[in-house]
Amino acid sequence: MPDSGGSAPRKLGSKELPRPAAKVLFGRFELVRLLGFGASARVYLARDLRSGHSVAVKAIPKGRVAKDGLSHNVVREIAIMRRLHHPHVLRLLEVLASRSKIYFVLELARGGELFAEVARGRLPEDLSRRYFRQLIAAVGYCHSNGVFHRDLKPENLLLDDAGNLKVSDFGLSALPEQIRGDGLLHTLCGTPAYVAPEILDKKGYDGAKVDVWSCGVILYVLNAGYLPFNDPNLMAMYRKIYRGEYRCPRWTSPELRRLIGRLLEPNPERRIAIDVILRDPWFKKGLGEEEWTALAKFHAAETAEAEDAKFWKSEEPDRALNAFDLISFSSGLDMSGLFGPQSDWKRFISAEPAEAILARAEDIGKKEGLVVRRKGKKGLAGVVVEGQIGNLVTIVVVRRLGDGLVVVEAEDGGGAAERFFLTEKLWPALEGPASETGSSGSVTDRPHPVP
Ligand code: AMP
Repeated sequence: MPDSGGSAPRKLGSKELPRPAAKVLFGRFELVRLLGFGASARVYLARDLRSGHSVAVKAIPKGRVAKDGLSHNVVREIAIMRRLHHPHVLRLLEVLASRSKIYFVLELARGGELFAEVARGRLPEDLSRRYFRQLIAAVGYCHSNGVFHRDLKPENLLLDDAGNLKVSDFGLSALPEQIRGDGLLHTLCGTPAYVAPEILDKKGYDGAKVDVWSCGVILYVLNAGYLPFNDPNLMAMYRKIYRGEYRCPRWTSPELRRLIGRLLEPNPERRIAIDVILRDPWFKKGLGEEEWTALAKFHAAETAEAEDAKFWKSEEPDRALNAFDLISFSSGLDMSGLFGPQSDWKRFISAEPAEAILARAEDIGKKEGLVVRRKGKKGLAGVVVEGQIGNLVTIVVVRRLGDGLVVVEAEDGGGAAERFFLTEKLWPALEGPASETGSSGSVTDRPHPVP
C-alpha cells in the first residue's frame, strides 16, 4: 500500500511555519525522517516517489573505502544479496552511490528492533521459539545461497508491522567496519558477546558455524533476558566464551537447555548444523508437517540460483504488441509491472533480430574484459555480464513480442561502476546503429549519466 509518509507542517505557538523542503535523493527517494543510526550510518524513513511505497534508506559515508568504490568482494556480496528473496531476510532493494556516500535502499521494518521487546523483559518460551524459527529459516536460506552474516546480533533483528522477524545486513558483513555503522559496538565498547570463540582466535573460521553460534547467543538472550557470556573484564569474558561457560536460567525447559548447549558448543566441529537444528525436538514442537516444510524451504528448489534458472526457462508465449504497450512506451510512462516486478530496468522496443542485439552485448562485455554468458532460448533470451569474480555487472534480456518486434531490457548490478558500464557503454551499443538513424522501432528511455 502506498502511503503518504510526510509530516505535518511545524507549529510554533499559533503560527504555522512552512515545512522545510524535503531532501530527495537521486530525484527518487524523499527522506521523511531519521529512523536510527549506528556509529557512522544513518537510516532514514523515505518514500519512493515512483511507487509511493515507504522504504528505509541507509546512508553510509564512503570514508576510507578505496577511491574506485567498493572492493570486489563487497560488490559481489551485494550482487548476491539483491537476488535473495526470503520472508525473513530484509530485502536490499537498491544500492546507490554519490561521490561521498553509499545508499542502501532497504525494505522498511516498521516494528523496529526485536531487542527493544526483549529489553522490556524476557520472552515466553513459545515466542522465543517463533522468533528463533524465523531466524534459522533466514540463516539457512542465506547459507544455501553462499551468503554468511558473520555478525548476527540483536541490532540486526528487526520486525515488520506483523511482528515477523527480518534479519538485516545479511551479506553486508564484508563491508569494512568503518562504513558499516556498527563499528561502535565492536571497537569502542569491545563487546564480543555474540562472537564465536573461533573468531577470537583470528585463525580463520567457517561463516556458517559462526552464524550458528550467534543464533545460540540470540536464543539464550530471548529466553533469559540477559547475555550468556558477560563480564566487566574483557579477558574474563573471552575466557568464558572459549570454554563455553554459561548457565541457563532456572525457567529454561530441559529441551531448550539441550539445544542451547548444542548451539553454544565452543568447538565448531561439534557445533550443531542448521539441518540438525531443523529436526531438534524443541525447534519442531507443535509444528505441523506443512509449516516445517515451509520453514526448511531453502533445502528445496527455492534458492536464488533455482529462481534464476526458473526465470530463464519461463519462455513467455508470443504476445502481440498492443496499443497500450505502444502508448506506454512512447509517452515514457512507467512500464514497471508490465514485464515483471523489476522497476529499474531500462527498456526499448526494436525491430532488429534478438540475435544481433545479444551479439552486440556479448561483444561489448568481452571487449571490457568481462565474463559473458548467454541465457534462455528463443522467446526469452539474454546475456549476463559478470566481473572476473562473478559479480553481476549487467543483465540484458530480449523478449519476443510478435510481428518481428522485441523488447530489450537491461539492468545494472547495483554499483556505480556497473551503472556506468550499462549507461555509457552497453546501452548506446544495444540501441545500435538503427536508432541513430531513427529508422527502427527504438523507443526513448535513453540512458542518462549516474547522478
Ligand atoms: P544500522 O546502522 O543498520 O544498525 O541501523 C541503525 C538503526 O536504524 C537500527 O537499529 C534500526 O533501529 C534502524 N533501521 C535500520 N534498518 C532499518 C529498516 N530497514 N527499517 C526500519 N528501521 C531500520
